[in-house]
Amino acid sequence: MLKTLKDLQNITGKTVILRTDYNVPINKQTGAIEDDLRIKSSLPTIQELLEKGAKIIILTHLGRPKGEVNEELRLTKIQQHLSQLLNLPVQKTNDVFGPDTETKISALQPGQILLIENIRFHKGEKENSSELVQQIAQHGDIYINDAFGTAHRNHASTFGITQKLPSYAGKLMEKEITALAPLIKGNIEKPLTMIFGGAKIDTKIGVIENFLDKADYILVGGGLANTFLAAQGLPVGDSLYEADKLELAKSLIDRAQGKIILPIDLITAKEITKDAESEVKTPTNILSDDKILDIGPESAQKFTQIIQNSKTVIWNGPLGLYEFPQFKNGTEQVAKALANSQAKSIIGGGDSADAIKQFGIPENQFSHISTGGGACIEYLAGTPLDAIEALS
Ligand code: ADP
Ligand code: MG
Repeated sequence: MLKTLKDLQNITGKTVILRTDYNVPINKQTGAIEDDLRIKSSLPTIQELLEKGAKIIILTHLGRPKGEVNEELRLTKIQQHLSQLLNLPVQKTNDVFGPDTETKISALQPGQILLIENIRFHKGEKENSSELVQQIAQHGDIYINDAFGTAHRNHASTFGITQKLPSYAGKLMEKEITALAPLIKGNIEKPLTMIFGGAKIDTKIGVIENFLDKADYILVGGGLANTFLAAQGLPVGDSLYEADKLELAKSLIDRAQGKIILPIDLITAKEITKDAESEVKTPTNILSDDKILDIGPESAQKFTQIIQNSKTVIWNGPLGLYEFPQFKNGTEQVAKALANSQAKSIIGGGDSADAIKQFGIPENQFSHISTGGGACIEYLAGTPLDAIEALS
């Protein structure tokens, strides 16, 4: 059983180490937060801890700073936004468990919130170093993990710390697990359709492997589909694809015995711009300067039919470059088909959730929109996640 906030004894005046996942999309030009779903989703836990009179130290990461300070990945905008949402002051440290952290933690009062600078500036985070774990642990009385989106990582602030402090699941973690757990306990209603898209090919291809036996249909679009098309010897021109994953993609197609369904038509363009001209092409007709940027209308139709015949659909990753109007159709058609279907629908992945918001489809048309991409999919694949197991 997951230990949750309900299991907490009196925490008035106690210091809580709260791990959240504020790894939100940031606009590269302006530095603005593009989607604050993950920040908003953490508010119920923070509010409950505040009501109970705890001192709150928040740990999160942003982006991939690789163990060193990266000015663009400081948490200043996140600090400001969290403060606005809570309508309360939120302090932030300038270092990760350095002198500034020490000073600010010793001054922290019950009912106050201190955000520690991007935890991944510290090399010990990803390495789960005992030194960083110890530094975190010595400042807290209890640990709460609300970072579902990072639950598939055994880092110092997600896993290491659970070995040192009494550890509990926050409200978001609890909500995610309550929604997802029934699906892995063998209760998945079949047919089960998985839809995979997006750009993060290297992580997703392994997950597809995990679902080869479980799923009835595996629909593939987005940048991911290009790697599968190329693996079959088809031309992908100037498209995003992963050359070193061709062998794996090929073996997956062989092993899947027809379960993997690739686009039968594609939307291409010569460049990625707002007014680039798009063309519908078949997979055999891609030229060397073509970029494949969406699935075509016939593919969208085919995917829609499969969704209509499914009882459970799990979707991770947009099927095209949905940020541009010419390349959003595949993702939009599939999102609408899913919203209108009777199937249990689970959506994981920041960009997938963002696409749905952009299309104006109400969230309640889906069974569950997860704040985790990789974590959601790995959890559903049935791999026990250490960071979650440690909260039981
Ligand atoms: P998620 O966050 O839902 O897990 P990813 O982060 O893996 O998804 O990928 C989302 C990104 O992939 C989006 O920015 C989208 O524009 C991009 N994308 C999708 N299809 C393509 C494509 N064919 N070529 C280039 N980029 C693509
Ligand atoms: Mg993403």
